[in-house]
Amino acid sequence: MKSALTIAGFDPSGGAGIQADLKVYHSYGVYGLSVVSALTAQNSGGVKRVMPVTRQFVKKQLTVLLDDIKPDATKTGMLCRESTVEVIAYIVKKYSLRNFVIDPVILSSTGRPLAEKGVPGAIRKKLLPLCTVVTPNMYEASVLSGIPIKNQIDMEKAALTLHEYGAKNVIVTGGHLDKMAVDVVYDGEFHYLRGRKSAGEYHGTGCAFSAAVTALLARGYGVLEAAKLAKGFMKKAFAKSFSTGQKMKLFNL
Ligand code: PLP
Repeated sequence: MKSALTIAGFDPSGGAGIQADLKVYHSYGVYGLSVVSALTAQNSGGVKRVMPVTRQFVKKQLTVLLDDIKPDATKTGMLCRESTVEVIAYIVKKYSLRNFVIDPVILSSTGRPLAEKGVPGAIRKKLLPLCTVVTPNMYEASVLSGIPIKNQIDMEKAALTLHEYGAKNVIVTGGHLDKMAVDVVYDGEFHYLRGRKSAGEYHGTGCAFSAAVTALLARGYGVLEAAKLAKGFMKKAFAKSFSTGQKMKLFNL
C-alpha cells in the first residue's frame, strides 16, 4: 500500500486542511499520514481563529513519524509560520522526502490570512527549490512570483518565475478566471487543462486538488498525468458537493 503525508491545518468542519487531504488520500486508496501545523476554529462561513502549533512540536511530530515510516509522497498546506516553513525545509532534506508537493496557502477564500507575512517569502526561498510541484491558485501564484495576475498569460509568466525559483513543476489553478477554469501546468513546457467553472462557493477546493495530485504521485503517476486526473477528480467532487452549513458547500469525497 502506498502512503502520503500531509502537513497542514486542522479544520473542524472537515472540508479543508488535514481532514480534506486524508479523505482524498483515502479515496485514492493511499494510506494517509498527517502532521498538524495549526489548529483552526471554523465552519462553512469561514475561519474564525487560528492557533499555530510550535515549530518544536511540528518538528517532533515529523521526526517521530519519519524515523519510522517513509511516505511515498508529502504535501504541505497551511503552514502558518515562517519558522514552520524552515522546519519543513530541514525535514525534507534530512529524510530525502520524495514527491514533495506544496500548496502555498496564504488566505482563506473568505479573505482571512492563514499565514504570517514572512511565509510566502520563506516558501519561495526555502521550499520551492525542494519541491516536485507547487500548486498555487492565481492569488498565491501572484504573491509568490511578484507578478500581478489577471489572465492566462500572466499565469504563464508566474509559472515560469516559480520554476526559476526552483520548483521543478508548477500548476497554477485557474478557478478564479472569469469564464473557463484553465489550469496552467509548466513542466518544462506549457500545458493547459480546461474545465467549466462550477457555480457557487466551495470549501477546501485548493486543498482537495493538491491532495489529489499528491495521492497520484504516491501511486506513481507523473506530474502532468496527475494534474489531469486531479482535475477530473475535482469535477466529480463539485458535482457531489452538498450544503449542510449556512455558507460554503462541502465536498463529499
Ligand atoms: N482551513 C485550513 C486548515 C486550510 O488549509 C484552508 C485552505 O487551505 C482553509 C481553511 C481555507 O479554505 P477555503 O479556501 O475553502 O476558505
